[in-house]
Amino acid sequence: MFKSILVPIDLTDTDLAKPAIATAVSLSQASNGAIRLLNVLHMTPVMLAEYMPADFDVQHRQSSEDALAIVASEIRLAPSRISSAVRQGSIYHEILEEAQAINADLIVMASHRPAMRSYFLGSNAGHVVRYATCSVLVVRH
Ligand code: ADP
Repeated sequence: MFKSILVPIDLTDTDLAKPAIATAVSLSQASNGAIRLLNVLHMTPVMLAEYMPADFDVQHRQSSEDALAIVASEIRLAPSRISSAVRQGSIYHEILEEAQAINADLIVMASHRPAMRSYFLGSNAGHVVRYATCSVLVVRH
């Protein structure tokens, strides 16, 4: 049923991502689908750019790609059914863009417990649920 599943991952909180990955794997096994892992890098603030090494963005992207490759290698699915991508920008915006780009029919993502903070500020999961044009499964611990 789900042929193209997008799994956005916060690489600074991989424990949070594990249940989402496990859920995405079982759903894709059930429907012979593929999984795309996505990490979004923050934009370097213009004010700080002159203090950063010239190749900071390139290095940052490379470490993100390397980390996603490790996550992918631990997933028990044929390698041809796993891919990964790194984008830069606002997290929920890039998640929505990637979902469109790969024609995702499902986004599986973890979310922290609801808190007053996210009630007022909104969260990545909240924005994705609100604006995605495909189904979204929010996995809670
Ligand atoms: P919440 O939505 O619970 O308030 P967050 O917004 O921090 O908490 O993150 C929830 C989910 O958003 C994560 O599980 C992950 O799927 C996605 N996410 C957060 N940061 C990133 C990132 N840098 N790259 C990709 N996805 C991310």
